[in-house]
Amino acid sequence: MRYFVKIGLEVHLELRTKTKMFCDCLNDPAEKTPNINICPVCLGHPGTLPVINREAVRKVIKAGLALNCHILEEPRFDRKNYFYPDLPKNYQISQLYQPLCRNGFLEIGGNKIRIREIHLEEDTGRLIHSSEGDYSLVDFNRAGVPLMELVTEPDITSAKKAGEFSRELQLIFRYLDISDADMEKGQMRVEINISLSKSQSDFGTKVEVKNLNSFRAVERAAEYEIKRQSKLLDEGKKVVQETRGWDPSKEVTFSQREKEEAQDYRYFPEPDLPPLHITQDIIDRLKAEIPELPDKKRQRLQRQYGLGKEAVEVFVQNKDLGEYFENVMSELRRWIRDIEKKSKVEEKEFFELARLCSNYMITDLQGLLKGASVEDENFLISPEDFAEFVTLIYKGTLSSKIAKTVLQEMFSKGLDPSCIIEEKGLALISSQSEIEKIVKEIVSQNPKPVEDYKKGKENALQFLVGKVMAKTKGRADPKVTRETLLRILGSS
Ligand SMILES: [Zn+2]
Repeated sequence: MRYFVKIGLEVHLELRTKTKMFCDCLNDPAEKTPNINICPVCLGHPGTLPVINREAVRKVIKAGLALNCHILEEPRFDRKNYFYPDLPKNYQISQLYQPLCRNGFLEIGGNKIRIREIHLEEDTGRLIHSSEGDYSLVDFNRAGVPLMELVTEPDITSAKKAGEFSRELQLIFRYLDISDADMEKGQMRVEINISLSKSQSDFGTKVEVKNLNSFRAVERAAEYEIKRQSKLLDEGKKVVQETRGWDPSKEVTFSQREKEEAQDYRYFPEPDLPPLHITQDIIDRLKAEIPELPDKKRQRLQRQYGLGKEAVEVFVQNKDLGEYFENVMSELRRWIRDIEKKSKVEEKEFFELARLCSNYMITDLQGLLKGASVEDENFLISPEDFAEFVTLIYKGTLSSKIAKTVLQEMFSKGLDPSCIIEEKGLALISSQSEIEKIVKEIVSQNPKPVEDYKKGKENALQFLVGKVMAKTKGRADPKVTRETLLRILGSS
């Protein structure tokens, strides 16, 4: 039997700020030496008072605005009381009653995923358990690091969509520059709530899966739960409301704890912190700082350059390369206008240049970069030079084979393409007479393939073209070569 799947996500994000959420300690969760970014405030010493980190608040509001949320006028902080060894205060400062943002949404692939709220809290420290399990050590470097929590409504209907939604969120957080959102480093952590029901309007029993530290884990855990819960329901059994963990090596979820009736954290308004006042002026200023977001960029790249879906996605995912591409394209537009002396840039011609440019950037240039960024100091190809390189291919001065050699030289030496072509004698030979001379030579040196061709063996012609190419080190214009060969073989 088929069931309706409802998935909601809880996403935690460590914000990249200079200092921690409520004190002046450095916010550096990657610090290797334990317990050095600590102070009486983040260690919860009696008599200390927290001070709100303005930068963290601004970053959460930006996330809220990017995700179409309502920003509350008077957000507050609340105390969530619980004991855990890596939580030195025995409570966590979080937000329950008046979070920073509510009622947003993100549209993805035509589906609207509603966002219930985004709030701000502090991270806990970290426990390191000994391999024998006889003791645990605690590192408070992470305690008090600003942590954003985003909660969606259960609007996601498949495992694949849960993965897509998480990936898009990561991309948006990176565009907003509020966090590196690296899941492997724990900067972004995803939990899923998943329930199955027989009708669209029903809610089944909710199961929570924690500790998902990759997008693959999000997808696989959701898939696993859909199968597991379907099987239980098919057999007429009940799904238990519980929290489950994810074992990435076995790719299974396992029961961690059954949910008691709503845990009582005895939340109450944080008495040591005043409410915030978020004015329209603050919101307007933050709105103005939000860059073009991934989805807008996808639509624009497609419209402006006529790029296909896959190329667009490469430039959206790899922001640096995307910006470099656009810089090269503005050089190319200038080239058409000024050098080709055209009053109007034809869209067709411009799109053709964009296609060439994106192909060489995505396959060849990315291959040379090997994961490095075009923003790196030792990346030597200026947008002007890359644009010139594209025009040389466009005009037929460079064959695709030679183009690769030229790009390699540009990449390693930073020289401009015409300089390399001249220095290395790489220009394409397209002169009819020059090619004819070489073709005649090849024909007289290879009587056997010539004979074969005359007997009707088509691939003998390809062999002779190859010989001409070898002789000219790939510089002979392939079209002229082929035509000349056909003409000479036909007349002899
Ligand atoms: Zn501190």
